[in-house]
Amino acid sequence: MGAAIKPLVAGNWKMNGLKAAVSELQALVDGYDADLAAKVDSMICPPATLIAQFADVTGNSAVAIGAQDCHVNVSGAHTGDLSAQMVADAGAVAIIVGHSERRADHGEGNEVVKAKAEAVWAQDLVAIICVGETEVERKSGETLDVIKAQLAGSVPAGATAANCVIAYEPVWAIGTGLTPTAQDVSDVHACMRDELSKAFGDEGATMRLLYGGSVKPSNASELMSVANVDGALVGGASLKAADFLGIMAAYK
Ligand code: PEP
Repeated sequence: MGAAIKPLVAGNWKMNGLKAAVSELQALVDGYDADLAAKVDSMICPPATLIAQFADVTGNSAVAIGAQDCHVNVSGAHTGDLSAQMVADAGAVAIIVGHSERRADHGEGNEVVKAKAEAVWAQDLVAIICVGETEVERKSGETLDVIKAQLAGSVPAGATAANCVIAYEPVWAIGTGLTPTAQDVSDVHACMRDELSKAFGDEGATMRLLYGGSVKPSNASELMSVANVDGALVGGASLKAADFLGIMAAYK
């Protein structure tokens, strides 16, 4: 099943990057040749301040440009927030929702994540919905239950392979250099595939399931070859074009 799914490697720059970082984007565009583009899709989600500039550089043709979050509403009195319509207007074609840093730092639960995904779809963008267990949950053997509950609570009805990407990001693996074993990733992704297929039929069976958490060039081949892993969501190693291209090289 996974073989028919075109993988996606997406970079989440988080709160990093000034205008001069466009040189890294340009290096990525230059290194992402037609051969590689035929095998793997590529996306960078810069801070919102850079979306318009980056979308101008890529034209969303080779490297797509995404956003890291959005408000549930289209407009209104929400100081400091950005709507899905605004980031779409700036050139984003996808939005990450439910990242564990949003869940933890901003108290966003499944209901909010689900509403955000619906707001993303209302603008005809792709929602990249993140799920993942904490270290405590993992140690107490709750990983699969947590993932099932997050999928059930965060992924709205109407999810399709075209409008939705799921990213499994164990919280304890983000930015730590730690990664689950290939077997652990395989178990979680098999469980997600099963749950999504039950909920959304063929759409769930062909939805892209990314792995995220300390992916780097040296471990990408092993992680990307796990069954039901259809790409990666990359934090730190997406900031440098050479590292990001090194991760995509897993698909060469
Ligand atoms: C992330 O925050 O989405 C992430 C995967 O970070 P890192 O690759 O740095 O662990």
